[in-house]
Parts: sequence; structure tokens; C-alpha cells
Amino acid sequence: MNLNNATNVSDSLNSLIEELSKLPGIGPKTAQRLAYYIVRQTERENIQLAEAISSVSTKIIYCDKCQNLSDYNPCIICTNPNRNISQICVVEDPMDVVAIEKSNCFKGLYHVLHGSISPLNGIGPDQLRIKQLFQRLEKEDISEMIIATNPTLQGEATALYISNNNTKSDLVITHLARGLPIGGSLEYSDDITLSRAFQGRQQISE
Ligand SMILES: [Zn+2]
Repeated sequence: MNLNNATNVSDSLNSLIEELSKLPGIGPKTAQRLAYYIVRQTERENIQLAEAISSVSTKIIYCDKCQNLSDYNPCIICTNPNRNISQICVVEDPMDVVAIEKSNCFKGLYHVLHGSISPLNGIGPDQLRIKQLFQRLEKEDISEMIIATNPTLQGEATALYISNNNTKSDLVITHLARGLPIGGSLEYSDDITLSRAFQGRQQISE
């Protein structure tokens, strides 16, 4: 961060501000405000916060099946006997799973790619968990793959790559209906828009 902002007399406060300002969407001013808020919290509250941060680094793992972040492997969605194992919904980000689960419009399984194809940023298919997706399609009894990548250029390119490289012959590949804001993100779509996008999903032609 800009050293001009590091004018607090306390080194520990400055270092807290510096760490907070590395978080997405947090500028130096917000970082400063958060740091002062934290200073005023009780020691017990701050220890809980610190423990929560440290346990996400030590406890969270990737589910071997869906590649989502979880405390368990396989995760609670993959092991839930009430899920429809013949449908798989492919998303870019773990937060997309949260948004879809919240909208309550899908009861199948997921596959999290952890990003989208973006040649300009040096991200190709090999940097994503696409290989694991194709392995699952081979092994599991999946009849429909719903590609729910974001409505962005990168998301579309990723969807196209996946459908073009699929080798499972009896698989129906669908894409979420338009209606999601172009250039937007699933994560920020409201429940009704997401439900409609699922209901109106369309088959990708061969
Ligand atoms: Zn899983």
C-alpha cells in the first residue's frame, strides 16, 4: 500500500491495514476503517476472527469429485443421496454453487472449473479443472451436462471448449438460457433470474 497512508504510530496496526488492503474491493481507506474497528473489538472476538481465517487455510480442501471447496472429501453435495446424479452443472467458481444452491432450482451435482479460459491472462484449459470433468463424464452415470459458465467472453469460450471436446456420445449438453446479464456473473444474479435461466436452458447443437 501507499506508505503515505501508513501514518499510524503502531506498527502492528499498519501491518493489519496493509494485509486488509490486499483483499479484493478493499482500498486503503476501507482497510484503515476495518483495522480501527478490529482494534476496538474484544480480544476474544479478534481471536475468533483470526481462528476463522486460519482454519480456512488448514481445513478447506478440494472435493476430489466436484472440485468444490469443502471441509470434507467427497463434499456434502456429492455424498447427498437425494441429489440427482444424472445431471451435472458446470460452473466457474465455488461462489456460483452457493448462488445456485440458494436459488433452489437445481438438485443435481456440480463441477467447479475454478476459472474460465482466458488466453490473454495465460489461462488455458489445462489451468482449469476440465480434465477432471471429462474423467467424471467417462466414469459417472451422467445424462445431462448443464454448462453454467458466466455470460462473458471467457465464459462462452469455456462453454464452447467443453462442448466441442466432449467425447461422451449419449450426453445431452445444455446451456443456461439467456436472460442473465451479459458480462455479468452468476454469483450476482438474483434467485428468480437464475431459476428462469435453469428452466429455459437450451441444448447446444452438435
Ligand atoms: Zn463434491
